Amino acid sequence: MTSTCSKCGNHSFEIQENSPARSRYMVWMVQCSSCGSVVGALEYFDSGVELQEQKRSLQHIGSAVDGCASRISALEAEVRKLANMVKVS
Ligand SMILES: [Zn+2]
Repeated sequence: MTSTCSKCGNHSFEIQENSPARSRYMVWMVQCSSCGSVVGALEYFDSGVELQEQKRSLQHIGSAVDGCASRISALEAEVRKLANMVKVS
């Protein structure tokens, strides 16, 4: 079944960014692409997309921390070697 604009009978719709008065957030208005009648509204930020982006960021941070930990371990090993060389001589 095709959606129909109740005002003009058009069958195509579009989203339009909007800042409703007294709203703290932007929203996407779903509106008729012909006459602009609003038929619905969507949250500006999609929670699912936001969570996926947060997950990717956390994975990136985790990889960076792992890399730092490896380099610190290698440095500790070198410091121990140097300390032993100083004790011997
Ligand atoms: Zn319309």
